[in-house]
Amino acid sequence: MGPVSAAAWETAMDRALALAADAGPDVPIGAVVLGPEGDVVGQGVNRREADGDPTAHAEIVALREAARAVGEWRLEGCTLVVTLEPCTMCAGAIVLSRVARVVFGAWDQKAGAAGSIRDVLRDSRLNHRPEVIGGVAEERCAALLEDFFATHRG
Ligand SMILES: [Zn+2]
Repeated sequence: MGPVSAAAWETAMDRALALAADAGPDVPIGAVVLGPEGDVVGQGVNRREADGDPTAHAEIVALREAARAVGEWRLEGCTLVVTLEPCTMCAGAIVLSRVARVVFGAWDQKAGAAGSIRDVLRDSRLNHRPEVIGGVAEERCAALLEDFFATHRG
């Protein structure tokens, strides 16, 4: 365990949820990167529709912002907090960024790559494996997505 406490990542999850709720036309997913001391060094929201960019997932946006803030691509000691279990692309980017810990809210049984359909984050063949904590504020994270899809389906 690093210096960043569970209370700090729960506060970050609140922030990620607030970001997600403001995602506009996009599926509401938000992410926050905490530095080794628990300060916010990056944040992002899903911008796939807004930017017309298939890679503009909340985690990627947040990791890029964090790397700019930290001044290098290595995000050692950082914690990524995201409202939904990362997909395969984002899990790959997380491993490459070397964040120490990933905290996520809702599970994604269709595309999740942190235990649901596969587990990229804890693949023993990769040379970096972050600590993974899933299901934080799970009900609120899932409800946000369910409300979005209920509204956009009819
Ligand atoms: Zn993703």
